[in-house]
Amino acid sequence: MPRDGPPGLAIMSPVRSIETDYLVVGAGAAGMSFTDALLSHAPADVVMVDKRPAPGGHWVDSYPFVRLHQPSACYGVTSRVLGTDRIDEHGTNAGFYERASGDEIRDYFAQVMEQTLLPTGRVTFLPLTEYRGEDADGHHLVSRFTGTETVVKVRTRFVDASCLQSEIPARHALPFAVEGRVTVIPPNGLGELDDVGGSFTVIGAGKTAMDTCCWLLEIGVDPDRIRWIRTRESWLFDRAVFQPLERVASYMRLQADWVEAALAAADASAFGHDLEERGAYVRIDPAIEPKIWRGATISRAEVAALQTIENVIRQGRVAGISETGITFAGGDQVPSGPGEVYVDCTAAGVPPVPTTPIFAPGRIALRYVTVGQATWSAAIVGTVEASGADDATKNRLTKPVPMSGEAAQMLEVVHAGLLSEVARARDAELLSWNQSCRLNPGHGAAERMADDPELIAAFSAMVTAIGPALRKLGGRSEVAAAPA
Ligand SMILES: Cc1cc2nc3c(=O)[nH]c(=O)nc-3n(C[C@H](O)[C@H](O)[C@H](O)COP(=O)(O)OP(=O)(O)OC[C@H]3O[C@@H](n4cnc5c(N)ncnc54)[C@H](O)[C@@H]3O)c2cc1C
Repeated sequence: MPRDGPPGLAIMSPVRSIETDYLVVGAGAAGMSFTDALLSHAPADVVMVDKRPAPGGHWVDSYPFVRLHQPSACYGVTSRVLGTDRIDEHGTNAGFYERASGDEIRDYFAQVMEQTLLPTGRVTFLPLTEYRGEDADGHHLVSRFTGTETVVKVRTRFVDASCLQSEIPARHALPFAVEGRVTVIPPNGLGELDDVGGSFTVIGAGKTAMDTCCWLLEIGVDPDRIRWIRTRESWLFDRAVFQPLERVASYMRLQADWVEAALAAADASAFGHDLEERGAYVRIDPAIEPKIWRGATISRAEVAALQTIENVIRQGRVAGISETGITFAGGDQVPSGPGEVYVDCTAAGVPPVPTTPIFAPGRIALRYVTVGQATWSAAIVGTVEASGADDATKNRLTKPVPMSGEAAQMLEVVHAGLLSEVARARDAELLSWNQSCRLNPGHGAAERMADDPELIAAFSAMVTAIGPALRKLGGRSEVAAAPA
């Protein structure tokens, strides 16, 4: 019978049927990390599907100058290292653990698939294949390439590994109108430009816009030729406090500061300012109260570079761009010169993820169970799934952390993150796995403790503050949940 194929084609193809223990939808970083952890602990077989042609998710389409914002040492899957744990010597990451480029990450996930998962003989990967939903026959997959339909019977669980998926400029629809001969490109298009006569307008307040501005400055664009439409300000982690391995004391100090600041803070704003005073948070414009917090890290050298861009426009969301300039949603207009290049960085990046329970009969929906660490969270869920516990226990060990991107919600994030972590710390087997898991930025801290007074001090400060902080944050959420 005819099936949907590429536009304009009706393809005649048979429907094939397969069976598997787990069907994992999404072979991005989260799906890969979940599957790697599951297979390390359980004798299961897995079918993985992704609409994209290769594993790696959004990294497959990322802009050429993208990098992890955190160290490679704690990103990817548990069973394979990413990078060489080098400390960078130059550039804005000097003095910090290396951060993989887009090419390195794509290559890494191709290796994880080709050299780790497929050789187990327990994984089938279907690229360019779209998951279309479930009915009484099973789960329906359609090849975007051939139109072939596959129906999958799932013996154990359907795993939605697309829940944390990133929205990136190369793949999203422009959220504003464009009229006339105007150059509007995603950051991916910057390398294709020749002889830019005009200036650059970077649109967006997130990490992609920061990366784009840093790259423009690095290749020699004068800061006066850059306008930055940055409606809201972000709190960002100083990369110096997010260092693993030999420098894990910095990360443990961050954990202590995080809990102490939450204990002291009257509200999310006070929490942010306290962490700024402690040196853990930074922001680009110290005169503006941040409204965004997505858990991104940045170096102070990058912040200093970004502060050289003085033409920052804060007139709200862009509604349209024409040959004469920009119209904002509130009606304001800002003129543009000829040859202006607009770089669209408005994609949501990591959109808000629901916090409904992860485990349900026959299903898993991946969520953050740590603060902003997608691959560590997915590995935890894969490991907990393989534990053989009942779903109520599994859900208790993997309480979702609400990553909404809003600074106003930071204390809810601290509370959920601590509850999730404390529940896992009470499970001896999971605690021992977690302490050695390479995706945990604090891994190895326990072994280094004896020789490092800084680590001992950070650890004891955290242990002292955690109980009172949990009681206080629990009280806050009871107040928030109480009927008016
Ligand atoms: C520029 C950038 C830098 C980042 N840096 C970091 C960092 O340093 N550290 C960190 O922890 N996080 C970082 N992140 C967050 C990032 O989102 C996660 O690290 C991680 O890559 C998310 O992986 P994912 O698998 O959840 O999502 P994605 O990478 O979006 O993958 C989801 C996959 O699901 C597939 N899919 C969706 N629906 C279907 C369907 N119906 N059928 C078939 N396939 C489907 C998609 O094609 C996609 O490939 C960064 C994000 C961005 C954008």
